[in-house]
Amino acid sequence: MNKKYRKAIIAGNWKMNKLPSESRAFVEELKPLLPRSKKKVCEVILCMPYPFIPIAQRGSKEKRLALGAQDVSAHDSGAFTGEVSAAMLKDIGCKYCIVGHSERRQYHGETDSEVNTKVHKLLEAGISPIICVGESLEQREKELTLDFVAYQVKAAIAGLGPKEIKRCVIAYEPIWAIGTGKTATADQAAEVCNGIRAVIRSMYDARVARSVSILYGGSMNPSNCAELLSKPDIDGGLIGGASLKVADLAFMINATADGAAGEDEGEAE
Ligand code: PEP
Repeated sequence: MNKKYRKAIIAGNWKMNKLPSESRAFVEELKPLLPRSKKKVCEVILCMPYPFIPIAQRGSKEKRLALGAQDVSAHDSGAFTGEVSAAMLKDIGCKYCIVGHSERRQYHGETDSEVNTKVHKLLEAGISPIICVGESLEQREKELTLDFVAYQVKAAIAGLGPKEIKRCVIAYEPIWAIGTGKTATADQAAEVCNGIRAVIRSMYDARVARSVSILYGGSMNPSNCAELLSKPDIDGGLIGGASLKVADLAFMINATADGAAGEDEGEAE
């Protein structure tokens, strides 16, 4: 299996929940529950609302935890009221940033072309984009899922060189599974994640494709994570609701780390 060539990742998407003052306590509570392995077997990312990030970071020397944002401006600077640039995110210590989340596409009219611009801006600033793609229920019922997701992936990563795509994370998030309690079955999720890797392989090559982490997102929780993570092309999760509870998040982080450590031990190459 090729999982050893890429990072296992658990990323929490807090959306517009909690208060800035609660973020620090959350990090302190989570720290002792993070995997103790000397090898970094799972990248843990918390994507918080902007004002939380410096507070969550303050005084924390926790190297096992990276902070991320949930969106970024498509512009560099200037008269764009309410926007936050990639350079600003970098300056407050963000290592990752979600782009193209279905809620931004749906409620804020974010287009594929804007997603692509944001991906470029983030990479230029030294931040890894977590690119969200996923179909609606209607598209799934019409059997358009694989074609639609392939289209979204190609549009989001257009113009990236092999070194740049290796710094991106792709999250497959079927819209009908987000925040609904309906999870894609492990086989459904695996089929699409496999399709995403095939798209990357066709645009670059097999070496590049095997090094990109692909996550599943959509009502992932402690009871369904193990089956999803057992699939060869699912490298972790982008988690909304269940990332707001320390115990649930820690459970999924450790399940992912155990799986990744097992993969390493089982590798023959
Ligand atoms: C998300 O919004 O990225 C998400 C996956 O949410 P949830 O886990 O709550 O479905």
